[in-house]
Amino acid sequence: MATDEALADELVGTIRAWVRKDVTPHASELEHADEYPADMVAQMRAFGLFGATIPAEYGGLELDVSTYARIVEELAYGWMTLSGVLNTHMIASNLIKRFGTEDQRSRWLPRLAAGDVRAAFSLSEPDAGSDTQALRAKAVLDGDEYVVNGTKMWVTNGERAGLVALAARTPEGITCFIVEKEPGASFEGIGVSRHIEKLGYKGIETVEMTYTDHRVPAANVLGGDEGLGRGLHFILSSLELGRINIAARAVGVGRAAYDAAFAYAQQRETFGVPIAKHQAIQFKLADMATKLEASRLLVKSAAEKFDRGERADVEAGMAKLFASESAFEIATEAMRVHGGYGYTTEFPVERYYRDAPLMIIGEGTNEIQRIVIARGLLKRAEEAGLA
Ligand SMILES: Cc1cc2nc3c(=O)[nH]c(=O)nc-3n(C[C@H](O)[C@H](O)[C@H](O)COP(=O)(O)OP(=O)(O)OC[C@H]3O[C@@H](n4cnc5c(N)ncnc54)[C@H](O)[C@@H]3O)c2cc1C
Repeated sequence: MATDEALADELVGTIRAWVRKDVTPHASELEHADEYPADMVAQMRAFGLFGATIPAEYGGLELDVSTYARIVEELAYGWMTLSGVLNTHMIASNLIKRFGTEDQRSRWLPRLAAGDVRAAFSLSEPDAGSDTQALRAKAVLDGDEYVVNGTKMWVTNGERAGLVALAARTPEGITCFIVEKEPGASFEGIGVSRHIEKLGYKGIETVEMTYTDHRVPAANVLGGDEGLGRGLHFILSSLELGRINIAARAVGVGRAAYDAAFAYAQQRETFGVPIAKHQAIQFKLADMATKLEASRLLVKSAAEKFDRGERADVEAGMAKLFASESAFEIATEAMRVHGGYGYTTEFPVERYYRDAPLMIIGEGTNEIQRIVIARGLLKRAEEAGLA
């Protein structure tokens, strides 16, 4: 259902004002200290954002994806990490919403919507990233429980999460489990074996997690018995949404970098004039603004298609590919506009420059994205009898 336009504008405006007042002024300091933004996350919870796309009957805001993408852009504009706190939570919530049994939906969605429980999403492993079929974590049935063993990599929000949507191998294939745990470094055979140090995207934990004989009730197989062996299908068909989200995040970071460069170009003078008067700088600003506008339109178009219930795999891939490459280029150019100051930690552009590349990698690298787009185009041509 489409979100009422006036309501969407009001919510996005509220988030934008909050980001300007309470996020942007503190983001770089927290980021440099690699400090978790507990107060900001509490405010996001108060806004109801952990229930952003969860249906109202389970206590969520039931926003359409177009509105959710606008909110993600605003959060990432202030600090990309805030959109990361939300992202894995929404991926897990959407998996339960779309593929969970009614019991599973009513059991977990209300707590997820309220932000009482926050979720992580765990597909990747040390030797299985793009190649999801190489996944090795195993779940073996023992009575009415599964015993899980294996190592999962890159689990964003993994330590603080109270629920993990976990992909593991069962005899039927790859199955998605809803793992409940206490937030913290260890819980009943689940251990955080490593905190991964990152180039950017700081203030949020991305961890390696080891499962040693951890027992999960069989009732926690996503989709019930029918979900056995269908986990990868569930996850891959949720990626459309994930890609729109990453693209929106890229627009947020790109816009922050562009705004910083635009403002600086008017303040900084060389040879007696603001550098914005030099044509070489004007060309940069023009290219940055054009890429940003094109990215925003691609995100909007993919989100609207998704909201209409149409297949948007190709469009979501295009938005993710273009917006993430653009954000990285815009961040690089913004740094160049700042000259030597862009290379210091005194201006936020260095943060955008370190944060932007993640969007090129996350939710399927852009190399994989091109494969997805091309396959989608070929399939559509075949279905239309043109290939
Ligand atoms: C900060 C961060 C947070 C993350 N958070 C999560 C999370 O919360 N949950 C989760 O499950 N995962 C998460 N990931 C993992 C992320 O999804 C993977 O890193 C990504 O899918 C790439 O996998 P890989 O790192 O194993 O790279 P690889 O798959 O090893 O790829 C290496 C290179 O080879 C290229 N390549 C691979 N296969 C092909 C091919 N067939 N054709 C052409 N090129 C190819 C890739 O594009 C890349 O350039 C996170 C990653 C990062 C960096």
